[in-house]
Amino acid sequence: MKKHLLINGDWIKASEYRDLYAPYNGDKLAEVAFANAREINLAIDAADRAIKSMAQLTAFQRAEILMKLVELLKGRRHECATIIATESAKPIKAAIVEVDRTIMTYTFAAEEAKRINGETVPMDAAPGGENRIAYTLRQPLGIIAAITPFNFPMNLVAHKIGPAIAAGNTIILKPASQTPLSSIYLGELLMECGLPPGALNIVTGSGAKIGEKLVIDNRIKAITFTGSPQIGKKIKNQAGLKRVTLELGSNSALLIDKNVNLTDFIGRCVNGSFSFAGQVCISLQRIYVHEEIYDQFVTSFLEETKKLKIGNPLDHTTDISSLISEQDVERSLKWINEAVIAGAELVIGGQRRANNTLEPSVLLNVPSTEKISCQEVFAPVVMINKISSMEEGITEINESKYGLQAGIFTNDLQLALKAAERLEVGGVMINDIPTFRVDHMPYGGVKESGIGKEGIKYAIDEMLETKLVCFRKI
Ligand code: NAP
Repeated sequence: MKKHLLINGDWIKASEYRDLYAPYNGDKLAEVAFANAREINLAIDAADRAIKSMAQLTAFQRAEILMKLVELLKGRRHECATIIATESAKPIKAAIVEVDRTIMTYTFAAEEAKRINGETVPMDAAPGGENRIAYTLRQPLGIIAAITPFNFPMNLVAHKIGPAIAAGNTIILKPASQTPLSSIYLGELLMECGLPPGALNIVTGSGAKIGEKLVIDNRIKAITFTGSPQIGKKIKNQAGLKRVTLELGSNSALLIDKNVNLTDFIGRCVNGSFSFAGQVCISLQRIYVHEEIYDQFVTSFLEETKKLKIGNPLDHTTDISSLISEQDVERSLKWINEAVIAGAELVIGGQRRANNTLEPSVLLNVPSTEKISCQEVFAPVVMINKISSMEEGITEINESKYGLQAGIFTNDLQLALKAAERLEVGGVMINDIPTFRVDHMPYGGVKESGIGKEGIKYAIDEMLETKLVCFRKI
């Protein structure tokens, strides 16, 4: 089935199409438009023309559009989850969780659309400012370019489309080449919700070929990108004076103190390490455990890991399915091998299975210079290292070039407070894994994990201009 480009409220035939295949079994899923520079230009023209009609919608109307979408999504939960599972090989039970989160994300966006407000400014606080009344207006920026990754093809798109509509902007969405169907489905649903034509345009195709066109066009006022640090940096360098929000990768870490009750959270640790085969930006990749509890932790972790079931993403009992590409399996095996040569101990996994799947793999005592530790693995691989003090663990975590989220399990309040202050990350989870996220919390990394925040209210802030209005009393 051919999937076209959404431009100016119509599905437009493209000059070229590329076949899309399922990562799990190689089934052909669709022929997807492969946009060229001319078609990108048409999408930008359409978004530009729609700026006025979008900015004229009231907050109530924008919230209504988003709530209609929420209702449609609620009625098509299973259909949405099947699309996600098929195009990304995300196990269906995780895909259903993603759909439910997507529904929450658009619900928050609808609510926040009604809470966009400026403030009054006490001008007389400065000498020369007396006899003035001033306030700020929050106005839409214009066109937002949203570039999204494969791993949460509905919810991470929602984190851009929801705030952009709530703020009254127009949008050009470029989803990941492997997962365009979730975005196209969203486009079909949104067209039933009363969005002005041209307010949302969806261009599919190669990021490497058309990404730059979007990033450098001066009609686009902001770029919101979620993806790899390598592409994020490139975008930042090309974007000129546009606003840029970058939600990038990580090698998220967890600290485990002595005197904690492992049974309370071992399941969460295993889940955080292997959910969607580790292809989550806050996947638990590094675990640092106090020496007094280390052996017990490793034993329990391995017991729990052995329960995971590898299989077809559409099977409701599957925990782990295919990686997004064969190259990712190759790369992960290479990194595991390198770590073992450097002295790490592979205690489970490390084998490829059918359909591009990789067994959940656990390595112990991985040197911090190994890629398994210092790069983003993005595969079902986790390392567990022994530490003799929490101080040592905090130092290890901070040595990373990334800083998205970190977690600590401890019963020591002073240590928790210290870790919260000292860890160089965008979010610290006390008594939870770094993989924890709900969709309205401020979310975004430091260092090479990105700039700017998502979480609906925070993403809306990044998509608005603040204008001062000052009356002089005469
Ligand atoms: P990716 O390869 O960086 O791709 C992300 C998007 O950028 C895709 O739509 C891609 O298009 C596009 N793109 C590629 N080259 C481009 C260019 N030169 N200019 C503009 N756009 C370009 O990332 P991915 O493999 O899909 O996703 C995994 C990465 O995303 C991981 O690093 C993960 O940590 C990160 N991530 C971060 C968060 C967060 O919130 N911090 C959340 C999820 C994922 P094509 O698909 O056509 O190449």
